[in-house]
Amino acid sequence: MKEKKPRGATLSAMGFFERFPDEDAARIFIEQCVWEGGEPTCPNCESKRHGLWKTRKGHYRCKDCRKIYSVKNGAVFENSHIPLRSWLYAFYRLHGSRKGIPSTQLADELGITQKSAWYLLHRIRTSCMDDRLAKLSGEVEMDATYIGGKERNKHADKKGRRGRGPVGKQPVLGIRDRRTGEVRAVPVDSESALTVCAELPARVEPGTEVITDDHPAYRHIKEMQYSHSSVKHSVKEFVRNLVHTNGIESVWALLKRAFKGVYHHWSTKHCHRYLDELTFRLNKGGRHVGTLDFLRALCKGAIGKRLTYASLTKG
Ligand SMILES: [Zn+2]
Repeated sequence: MKEKKPRGATLSAMGFFERFPDEDAARIFIEQCVWEGGEPTCPNCESKRHGLWKTRKGHYRCKDCRKIYSVKNGAVFENSHIPLRSWLYAFYRLHGSRKGIPSTQLADELGITQKSAWYLLHRIRTSCMDDRLAKLSGEVEMDATYIGGKERNKHADKKGRRGRGPVGKQPVLGIRDRRTGEVRAVPVDSESALTVCAELPARVEPGTEVITDDHPAYRHIKEMQYSHSSVKHSVKEFVRNLVHTNGIESVWALLKRAFKGVYHHWSTKHCHRYLDELTFRLNKGGRHVGTLDFLRALCKGAIGKRLTYASLTKG
C-alpha cells in the first residue's frame, strides 16, 4: 500500500480538542502568542510588572498603573463574552477550508446565535488584515475581477443602472507575485488607469515586471518605472510564452467559489474583510493552514485591532 505523505503538523479536529481540552489551555496558548514569552504585559502602560488578580482567572493587576487586564484587552477579543477556546476553534475552522465557513455553520458548531458567529467571523477577518505587508517584486501578475450578484436577481430598488458590463458589482484589483505566490487584493472604485496608478506603487517595487491583460486601465504602467507586458484577452490570446495572468485568475476562481458556494452574498461594505481573509490564508497559510503555527499567526494578528459591533453594522 502506498504510504500516506505526512501532512506536517496539521491539526485534525480531534487533535484540536486534545491540544485545547479546556478554556485554560486556550488562554495560555493565546497569552504565549500575544505576549513575548507568555509574560503578561499591561496594554495600558506596557509594564511587565504584575500580580495575579485573584477574583477572575486569567486577569492580572499592573503594578505600575494599577489597571486590571487580561489577554483580551487591546485585541479583537476585547469585551467578547465568547470563550477563548471558541475563538481558537473559529480561527481553526475559518481557515481549515480553502473557501472559509458560513456563520450559520459556525453558530451550530459553537452553540451560539448566527448573529454572534457572524460578528465573531468578521473580527477574525479583522485579525487577518495587515497593512505592513512588504511590497511585491520580481515578476507580478495584475488583474481585476467583479464580485456581486446578478442584476436580474436583485430587487427593483437595489438594481443599478441598466446596461452591459459589470453593473452593480464590486471591482477588486489583485496582484500576485509569481515567485512567492503572495497575493494582494483590494476593493476599488473601478478598473481604471487612475486606480492602477494609485494602487500599483503602493504594493509593488519599482523595476518589477508587471503582466496584465490588454484592458486600457493598464496602459500607463510602462511610464511608471515598471516593465509591462500584456496578453490580448480582447482577441482571445491568453498565453504567449510566459506572458499570462493565469496565477491571479486562479485566485479569482477561488474567491468566486467562496462567494457563490460558501457566503452566497456579501455586502460591498464588508468586501475588504473577505479579501483579507482570503489573502491571509493564501499568504500565511499555504501548506501551513490548520497547523499550530498558523493559529499562532492569527493570534498575533489579533493584537492592537478592534472591531465594534456598532462600527460593523452602521451605514
Ligand atoms: Zn500598566
